[in-house]
Amino acid sequence: MNRIIYVPHDLLNKNFGALKKADKKNDLIVLIESAQTINSKRWHSQRLQFIISSARHFAQELTDSGFNVIYQKSATTIQGLTQIGKQHKINKFLTTYPTSFRRLESFKDFSIEFVDNDFFITPISEFTDWAKSQKSFKMEGFYRQQRVKLNVLMEGKDPLGGEWNYDHENRNPVPKGYKSHELVEFKFDEIDNQVAQEISQLTTWGEGQNKYWATTRKQALKRLDEFLKYNFKEFGAYEDAMPIDNWSVNHSVISPYLNNGLLHPLEVVDAALKKFESGEIPIASCEGFIRQIIGWREYVNGMYWFLGSEYQYENQLAAKRDLLPLFDDPSKTKMNCLATIVTDIQERAWTHHIPRLMVLSNLANLTGVEPIQFLDWMRRVFIDATDWVMVPNIIGMGLHADGGVMMTKPYISGGSYISKMGQYCKGCAYDPKIRVGEKACPFTTLYWNYLDEHQDKFKKNHRMFQQLNGLKRLNDLGEVRKQASLFLKQLSAGEI
Ligand SMILES: Cc1cc2nc3c(=O)[nH]c(=O)nc-3n(C[C@H](O)[C@H](O)[C@H](O)COP(=O)(O)OP(=O)(O)OC[C@H]3O[C@@H](n4cnc5c(N)ncnc54)[C@H](O)[C@@H]3O)c2cc1C
Ligand code: SF4
Repeated sequence: MNRIIYVPHDLLNKNFGALKKADKKNDLIVLIESAQTINSKRWHSQRLQFIISSARHFAQELTDSGFNVIYQKSATTIQGLTQIGKQHKINKFLTTYPTSFRRLESFKDFSIEFVDNDFFITPISEFTDWAKSQKSFKMEGFYRQQRVKLNVLMEGKDPLGGEWNYDHENRNPVPKGYKSHELVEFKFDEIDNQVAQEISQLTTWGEGQNKYWATTRKQALKRLDEFLKYNFKEFGAYEDAMPIDNWSVNHSVISPYLNNGLLHPLEVVDAALKKFESGEIPIASCEGFIRQIIGWREYVNGMYWFLGSEYQYENQLAAKRDLLPLFDDPSKTKMNCLATIVTDIQERAWTHHIPRLMVLSNLANLTGVEPIQFLDWMRRVFIDATDWVMVPNIIGMGLHADGGVMMTKPYISGGSYISKMGQYCKGCAYDPKIRVGEKACPFTTLYWNYLDEHQDKFKKNHRMFQQLNGLKRLNDLGEVRKQASLFLKQLSAGEI
C-alpha cells in the first residue's frame, strides 16, 4: 500500500469524495477517533453515540467489502495519521476537502492532498461566484437558480404549477388531535452496544441512548423511505407547527445522515421527485421539502465558506449575557415552551427548525446571550450539529449577530407567534397576550424591550417599519422596560 485515505466521521460514503478514488490494493483507509474532540465539550451522549457508531459501522462495511481499513483511537487526528503513516511507511495522504474551517486549519502543517467535496450539490467556487454577483444574499434568488440549473420542478423555463414558492399554503398549526406517523426505532447491534458502553464512562449531557438514530446507510435509507411513505404528504402543511405530543411532526428527520454522508442530497431529491410523480404528494409539500434540500442546505453551506472563519465571532448587537441556566437544565424555568423543548432535546438531541429558530434562538436573541456561547451550546446538544450549518443558522439567522448580512431582519417574536404555532401556552404559568405583571409572558415583554433597545439600529430598515410602528403605539413602555429588566435578572438566575 502506498497511500493513506483519511475519512473523517462526517464523510461516510464510499461513492463520494476521496473514497471515490480508493483502490483496494494500494490504499489504506484510515478513520481516527480523536480524544481531543470527544473530551472537548460536554456533548449530548446521543450525538457521540451517533457519530462514533456510524463511523465504526462504516469502517466495518469497508473492511467487509475488501478494503484495508484502520479505525484508530488517538489523542488527535493529526497524531493518529502521523503514527499510522510511520508504522506503514506511507507518506502520501489523501482526503476530501473538509467541512469546517477548524478541520482545514488542523491540516495547516500536515501534508495532505484534498479531493473536491461532492457531498454537496453546489461546489463552493460556484456558490462564491453567485454570492459575489449579489447585492444582498437572498436565499430565494439562489434557490430559483438551483431549480433551473438542476431542472427540478420546472416546466420549461417556468416553475411547475406557476409558482416558485408555495409557503402561503404551508405554515399551519396542526388541528386538534392530529397525529403524524410515529418513527420506528432501530435495534442496537454489537457495535452500537460497545459504543454505548464506552460513552457511559464519559461526562455527557442529555439522556443516554435512544434508538431513533440510524447508524448505518441501510437504516438511514429506511428513515428516508418512512418519511416519503408516511409524512411527506403533509410535510408542507405542518412544517412550522409545534405540537406537544408529536415530536417529529411531518419532518423527515434525515439531517444527521445528510450531514455525515450516509445519505447524499441528490439521492434524497431524486427519491422525493419520484414519490411526487406518483401523484400522491401536493406540490406545496414537495416544493417545500425540495427547497430545504437544494435551497437552504446548499445556501447555508455556501454562505459558511463565503463569510469566512471569523464570521462565527460576529456580535453586532453587542450581546454579552452568559448562557441562561434553562438551556442546560429545563427545570430552571416555568416557561412551558422552553421547558418542553429543552426536555425534548435532552430526550432526543433533536427538534425541528421552528423551535430552534422561534423559541431557542429567539429567547437567546431577546435576552442578549453572547452569540458564541449560544452557538457552543447548540453545537453540543444537537444530533445534526456541524460547523457549516450551525454557524450561519445561529449567527446570521437565529441571532442577527451579523448585523443583517444574511437576513434582512431579525427573526424575533413575542408569545403570540409561539401561541399560534405551538401548543405550549395552555399549560404555562404565563399568558402570551400579557406584557406586564405576574402573568406576563417573558417572550412578549422581551420582544418589545428588544425593539425599544435596538430601535436606532433598525430604524432605517424598511422591513422593520411595522414592528417599530407597533412600539410607538405602546402606552406602557415604561412598565415594559421595568418588567423586562426583572425578567432578564430572573432568567439569568434560573428563576422563571
Ligand atoms: C437556529 C438553527 C440552527 C440549526 N442548526 C442545524 C444544525 O446544526 N444541523 C442541521 O442539519 N440543521 C440545522 N438547522 C436547520 C434545520 O433546523 C434542520 O436541518 C432540521 O430541523 C432537521 O430536521 P429534518 O431533517 O427533519 O429537516 P426537514 O425539515 O425535513 O428538512 C429537510 C432537510 O433540509 C435541510 N435544511 C432545512 N433547513 C435548513 C437550514 N436552515 N440550514 C441547512 N439545512 C437545512 C436539512 O438537511 C434537513 O434535513 C438549524 C436551523 C436553525 C434555525
Ligand atoms: S406563555 Fe410565553 S413562556 Fe409560556 S409557553 Fe407561551 S410563549 Fe412560552
